[in-house]
Order: sequence, then C-alpha cells, then structure tokens
Amino acid sequence: MEPTLLPSQRSGVYAVSAPSGTGKTTLNSRIEQRHRDVEISVSLTTRKQRPGEIDGKHYHFVDRKEFEKNVNEGKMLEWAEVFGNLYGTSKSEVERITEKGHKVILEIDVQGWMTAKPKLPGALAIFILPPSMIDLWNRLEKRGTDSPEVRWQRFKAARNEIAAGRIYDFFIINDDLERAYHELEAIIIKGEPGLTSGEAGRECCDRLLKEFEQSHKILDLKTIHEKI
Ligand code: 5GP
Repeated sequence: MEPTLLPSQRSGVYAVSAPSGTGKTTLNSRIEQRHRDVEISVSLTTRKQRPGEIDGKHYHFVDRKEFEKNVNEGKMLEWAEVFGNLYGTSKSEVERITEKGHKVILEIDVQGWMTAKPKLPGALAIFILPPSMIDLWNRLEKRGTDSPEVRWQRFKAARNEIAAGRIYDFFIINDDLERAYHELEAIIIKGEPGLTSGEAGRECCDRLLKEFEQSHKILDLKTIHEKI
C-alpha cells in the first residue's frame, strides 16, 4: 500500500471542490490574496492555456506524454480526467507549500478528492454549492463561455458532482459572495465549522438533486438539449 503523505502536517490541507459556475475560483483567489500563509496548489493539466492564464501560476501546462510520465513515476498525489483533459496535483507541490508552514488549498474535482482523501488523513474537504440548480444554470448562461451543448454537459456534470458531494466535511452555499467568502475564511483561517457543515450540507445536496429531477424549467431544458 502506498504510504500516506505528510503525516505530520496533515491539518493544513484543504480540498475545495465545486461544480463549474459556483464561484470557487473567485473565493479561493480572494483567500490567497488576503492571507499570506494560504496558497493554492498549482496543478498540472493537459488542457490548453486560456488567454490571461500564466504557466506556473494558474496551472503547469503540459502535454499528455509528460502528464503520463509523472503518473507512471508515482509523482502525483491524485489526478482525474475532467471534460476530456487530464488534471492532477503533484506530491512535490503540496510538500513545497506545507514545508513553509503554509496552508494549502487543493482546487480539485470530486474524483480527485476521492483519490487524495485516503492519502491525506486530517485534510478537510469543503464543497461549494449553488443556492439552487436554476441559479447555477443562469450563472452558466451568463458566463457565456460555452456553447449550449457544453453548457448542458457542465450542468449535468454539476448534478453528478453534487450527488457525490456527500463525502465532504463542510458545505458553503454561495448565494452571496461576501457571506460565502467569510464562511470559507472561518473554516480555513479560524478553524470554525461554518454555517452548513455536515448533515445540513448533505440535506442541501439532496434538495438540489430533487430540484434537478423535478423542476419544470430543468425538465424543459433537458427536452431541448437532449431532443427527447
Ligand atoms: P478548469 O479547466 O475550468 O480550470 O477546471 C476544470 C475542473 O478541473 C475544475 O472542476 C477543477 O476543480 C478541476 N481541477 C483543476 N485542477 C485539478 C487537479 O489538480 N486535480 C483534479 N482532480 N481536478 C482538478
């Protein structure tokens, strides 16, 4: 069995996951800017660099061959395929940050957290949720970065992530950016549980899933996008 990582520094590691469109990047970037001892782990990805993204800051952009070499050499803490691209966290990146005594945020998807969790005992996992599925759909539409087909795929992926999100320790409902930020800060900086931890968060996941199955607007969207 692979040895667990960082046994002595485990409590400074936080996984933050959220379906796309939930505001995760904004929240994490803000906490990194305001707290010098918090750093977001820079992942490896095979995805193409977007305009404005800096190699080594937002991601380490690599080709598939290099990514697979890192996996085969046992250098990755976790990795996953997300929307057709590979993403992963290297062990050395997490060590680089924790060795400085800094807290590290892993911005990973649900599959990634499932792989990383057994290797990081004591790490805490935070799941950011939209206030409603309709609100999430509206945000994806407003963002305007995706074609309608991709938007629907992301929306369905969000539903599946929420279904798997029950394994998380803390939940933050992003209905108001300021309030959501203060909750994230309370958990990471002050070690407080936040408003929607544990069972209440799981109930919120169940409510969102029910909305996905039953909302007339979402059923209409499904009919349009899947041409049933
Ligand atoms: P984007 O392409 O929009 O930057 O990220 C797409 C998805 O990949 C997001 O859900 C993000 O959380 C996930 N992701 C980014 N880095 C990692 C990583 O290192 N590991 C895993 N498992 N997922 C990641």
